[in-house]
Amino acid sequence: MNLILFGPPGAGKGTQAKILQEEWGLPQLSTGDMLRAAIAAGTDLGKRCKAIMDRGDLVSDDIVVGIIAERLDKPDCAMGAVFDGFPRTIAQAQALDRMLEGRGSQIDAVIELKVDDEAMVGRMETRVKENPGSARPDDNPETLRNRLGVYHRNTAPLLEFYRGQGKLVTVDGMAPIPQVAAAIRAVLAGLPAGAAP
Ligand code: AMP
Repeated sequence: MNLILFGPPGAGKGTQAKILQEEWGLPQLSTGDMLRAAIAAGTDLGKRCKAIMDRGDLVSDDIVVGIIAERLDKPDCAMGAVFDGFPRTIAQAQALDRMLEGRGSQIDAVIELKVDDEAMVGRMETRVKENPGSARPDDNPETLRNRLGVYHRNTAPLLEFYRGQGKLVTVDGMAPIPQVAAAIRAVLAGLPAGAAP
């Protein structure tokens, strides 16, 4: 089963992807985490992406499609995966459809975590205050506002793309974490038998 967790920065995609990974054994494929790992390892790819990520802009489609293609060929993705922070553009979504089709697979559901922007700024500030060590270079109010703008301009159009494919389901991302997880579980329970993990 292949799922996409969809929503603006701070919506809780990573938190819910980790719960899905624990409950269903589906690996979390976070392009943000992969890019941060490349930066930490000092690779050429990391060096090319760092300034772009620090500003909160999108790295090129070719780069993220390339790292996802490589990751999908790992054995732990054989039963599917949870995509977190990918795709973020129509071109990435089309490339993902082609990659999965080439592997005899497809996206089964796209789960939108619906939240409001102002609450996302508050969430980030609370997270940084409570746990300053976890702050990322792009965790500051100005960069977050840019990331939210990029989300609405480049990424939100994907909602229509997936609605058109009949795959979009929206859950209330403002609810407490366990409630969001329960809503996602209910979505999975409603999928056709072949897609269920
Ligand atoms: P995230 O951890 O998902 O918020 O991603 C952090 C940053 O990594 C983003 O602000 C982008 O600069 C970059 N990034 C992550 N995923 C993608 C993607 N699918 N397309 C383009 N840039 C991405």
